Amino acid sequence: MIEFKNLIVEVEGKRIINKFNLNVLPGELHVIMGPNGSGKSTLANTVAGHPRYTIEGGSITYNKEKINKLSPEQRSALGIFLSLQYPVSIPGVKNIYFLKAAVNSIRKIKNKNEIDTGNFLKMVRGFLPLVGLDESFLHRSVNDGFSGGEKKRNEILQMLVLQPDLSILDETDSGLDIDALKIIAEGIKNYRNVNRSFILITHYHRMLDF
Ligand code: ADP
Ligand code: MG
Repeated sequence: MIEFKNLIVEVEGKRIINKFNLNVLPGELHVIMGPNGSGKSTLANTVAGHPRYTIEGGSITYNKEKINKLSPEQRSALGIFLSLQYPVSIPGVKNIYFLKAAVNSIRKIKNKNEIDTGNFLKMVRGFLPLVGLDESFLHRSVNDGFSGGEKKRNEILQMLVLQPDLSILDETDSGLDIDALKIIAEGIKNYRNVNRSFILITHYHRMLDF
């Protein structure tokens, strides 16, 4: 599904990733562990197409297509999803509108009609119990005033709504209590199938046990 070949990544002129190789097949779940500052988030952000991270060598191939130069939104439309290590708050933008705009942006790139509001709401409501959030979170601004754990759950909600083929979860388990961790692990487990791949970045074995 995704293959890294001799990937070299620099951030503001500093080489962070040096000749990284990894091949992730459909249905596989890979785990990346390593000390702080070793470049895990750099790798995740590079796959998502963050403009601050420049590929200085090697390639990232996704479903046989080289994606080095694609925009973040093109990568998203291809089915790549990144759960951020530090989710960003967007005061003034309602969570439900944000989710709908994200889904419709992808549908637009794929030349599909906009999803209708009623069906969309029904779908999102169905996912809420899977991440342990109630409906009030849909009507608040994106991550605004959410606790650390609620932000991480909201990231997984985004994953369920966007239905990606490749999910990169960057320390989604950090800062979660044991119950939240179980809920998120369960959510990921239910979402897994033979066509969907995961790259989990974590410091803890607990997540993997669940
Ligand atoms: P990890 O996620 O493994 O903890 P990161 O990918 O966040 O590691 O960071 C790897 C290295 O890249 C660190 O030394 C960090 O300071 C550096 N780095 C990351 N982002 C930037 C940036 N925007 N500007 C300068 N250095 C950065
Ligand atoms: Mg990190």
